[in-house]
Amino acid sequence: MNTVDLKSISIMSIAEAAGIVLSPAGTGRFVGLCPLHTERSPSFFVFEGKNRYKCFGCQSGGDSVDLYMALHHCSFREAVHSLTGGPVRWTPPDREEARRRALVKKFREWENWYSEILCQWTGAVNRLLFRACKGPDDLDRYAEIIRLKGVAENHLHVLAYGDTRQKHEMFQAIRRGHGDQYV
Ligand SMILES: [Zn+2]
Repeated sequence: MNTVDLKSISIMSIAEAAGIVLSPAGTGRFVGLCPLHTERSPSFFVFEGKNRYKCFGCQSGGDSVDLYMALHHCSFREAVHSLTGGPVRWTPPDREEARRRALVKKFREWENWYSEILCQWTGAVNRLLFRACKGPDDLDRYAEIIRLKGVAENHLHVLAYGDTRQKHEMFQAIRRGHGDQYV
């Protein structure tokens, strides 16, 4: 089964298929005689960019699926079936949008938290190394911590200068326990 974005169904194509004659009425706006009630002067508006319609005569309005339902006197399920050519598992757009926003918010929180931890940690390590490293032998002794400091600095670099995709890749690597290898 496919997940179909109902927002992608063009309201213009539904209106055209139903034989509604539309004339331009401003940017992204079209007007015609309402197919849903009898009228002589056009009060049926289609907003192409928003993919919505509104009739100021009979007050009918909505998105592509609403128009299809009104034109064909069918249920939501039947309209979606006809418009997408098959049964669909449909996620309401608002719920999908809310889920996406929640994920973005969580990711931003993680980004802030992780940046802060890395700054504190690398700061502490720098102070420790400054005090403890007196010669080349000490560098060997602290080799592992120096390596980890390099990793932390790389992560900080990604957080500061990376794009969303790079940050997300790093996040995934850390979550899988492969943060050390991520550069
Ligand atoms: Zn109307």
